[in-house]
Amino acid sequence: MNQKFIPLSVPNLKGRELEYVTHAIETEWVSTGGGYIDKFEERIAEYLNVEQAVACQSGTAGLHLALRLSGVGYGDEVIVPTLTFIAAVNPVRYCGADPVFMDCDDTLNLDLDKLTDFFERECEIKNNKLINLSTGKVIKAIVVVHIFGNLINMVQVIKLAKKYGLKVIEDATEALGSFYTEGEYKNSYAGTIGDFGVFSFNGNKIITTGGGGMLVGTDRELVTKGRYLSTQAKDDGLFYIHDEVGYNYRMTNVQAAIGLAQLEQLEKFISIKEKNYFHYKEKIKNIDGIEVIEFNRGTRPNYWFYSFVIDSKRFGLGRDEIMLYLQEKGVQTRPIWGLIHKQKPYINNQSYQIQKANHYLHSIINLPCSTNLSEEDISTVTDILASLHARSDQNV
Ligand SMILES: *Cc1c(COP(=O)(O)O)cnc(C)c1O
Repeated sequence: MNQKFIPLSVPNLKGRELEYVTHAIETEWVSTGGGYIDKFEERIAEYLNVEQAVACQSGTAGLHLALRLSGVGYGDEVIVPTLTFIAAVNPVRYCGADPVFMDCDDTLNLDLDKLTDFFERECEIKNNKLINLSTGKVIKAIVVVHIFGNLINMVQVIKLAKKYGLKVIEDATEALGSFYTEGEYKNSYAGTIGDFGVFSFNGNKIITTGGGGMLVGTDRELVTKGRYLSTQAKDDGLFYIHDEVGYNYRMTNVQAAIGLAQLEQLEKFISIKEKNYFHYKEKIKNIDGIEVIEFNRGTRPNYWFYSFVIDSKRFGLGRDEIMLYLQEKGVQTRPIWGLIHKQKPYINNQSYQIQKANHYLHSIINLPCSTNLSEEDISTVTDILASLHARSDQNV
């Protein structure tokens, strides 16, 4: 059979990527210096309406820098969601700190009402520090993730952070381009509201540099310090004086060349993803037992990933069976991430009333969402889903 393979999420490199990379190579600026890095940082900062941005090797590296700049250190605790990609949490451990895991709500983002409960019932403020009563440790920061590009309620996040004296790190790795269209943060982009924001340009993100990331923040000095730490903390470049322990986290000029060309296409990518999202939504609305997760009102999301919830009773088949069948038909799909509080390295860490995440763990399916996707591809996917559902009806 000669069926077309429809991948979940692949890069789209049809802009000026080759031209810029060729220029970087022809001029022999391929490492952690060069004009494309500066330009990429400037353009991202312009796009996000922030003063400056620091280009890194990965989103993970950016998150590590953000936590360190937030003063998270050995023995501290950091609030994190359990339903997310593990790279949002691992950097907490790099700092010698421990995560405390929170549940998700029906948007898949961290449940802020439960977090409020946790602070009220399980913590106390002592000497201006937030103490976790069950561990006796100091909670220093919150990492919030805008899951799949869907903005979390930052008004509520910032209120909590102010009340309890916490730093806020926005893991905006999936949310470049999402912004609020209403409210206190109208026209503010994901990543620009908390103390720090981090973006990723991994191969499956909305724009890619192959691998790469970007750090932004509201305190100019701290962001500048982030750049210093990302380049081995050189206090004197010539005589190798280093007053702090730094990292080799700087993005290369080749990565930045790709990034610059990708950024030129970001708004186009978002509009394609938006159109495809609504196309899916229209096509599946008559299939019983599958529903799309909506993006929040009052926002312009980047429509990065499309998540669907399967009600296996109504659909007639379980999520995993649907995934397997789609795979046989050449359609790549993905379940949601394994919950982090259940992963080996974190099994002994505290988690607070995880309920909804357990439900979504078994019911979410992500369908193909690349910007290269055609309407025909979407119809192929939704036709398979419709036929599966119809078949399961006959079997009842
Ligand atoms: C992609 C991603 C990261 C990590 O980004 P890398 O650039 O791959 O290191 C972190 N958090 C979340 C939620 C992500 O989706």
